Amino acid sequence: MAQLTESVSRLIDNLAKLPGIGRKSAERLAYHLLRVHKADALALADAIRDVRENVRYCQSCFNLAEGLQCAVCSDPKRDRTVLCIVEQPRDVMALEQAGTYRGLYHVLLGRIAPLDNIGPDQLTIEPLVERVRAGQFREIIMATNPTVEGDGTALHISNLLAEYPVTITKLARGITTGSILEYTNKEILADALSGRQKF
Ligand SMILES: [Zn+2]
Repeated sequence: MAQLTESVSRLIDNLAKLPGIGRKSAERLAYHLLRVHKADALALADAIRDVRENVRYCQSCFNLAEGLQCAVCSDPKRDRTVLCIVEQPRDVMALEQAGTYRGLYHVLLGRIAPLDNIGPDQLTIEPLVERVRAGQFREIIMATNPTVEGDGTALHISNLLAEYPVTITKLARGITTGSILEYTNKEILADALSGRQKF
């Protein structure tokens, strides 16, 4: 291979660490960034820097936030008696885009996955139980992904919450088993929310 300058090869090495980007794609992206306007390339660098410096997890629900609380938790118009449990911040985004849900969220930051050595302790289950114990919720909606691991996680949590006086529901299975929340279209997601059933 022809000699690359040190900074070009450093860029390629870093791009190649991204999920789904192999060495060839990393090279293509690096050359693309060298060809576009300098301002466009630097805007990408700034966006990466900003997101890492300013975005953190909401202290209440673990959604992404710029500040202590996320946009949902800090919205006074949300219904604070309903809590929807999801695996990832991107699931919050999918449900928000469906546009029908007005309650709060709790983001687990993963799912229980024994094969990947991910146990309940690595998720935000403890703060979730704390929130439920505090007693403001009348309904908890399980919206983990309809996969074996997502279902197992929902079951584990519903067992933990069984002692509290809340109704536990789950999304209706308009969502095909195995499909991932973030890729489900808005209409189906809205139906799954409105048709939710007792867990
Ligand atoms: Zn929040």
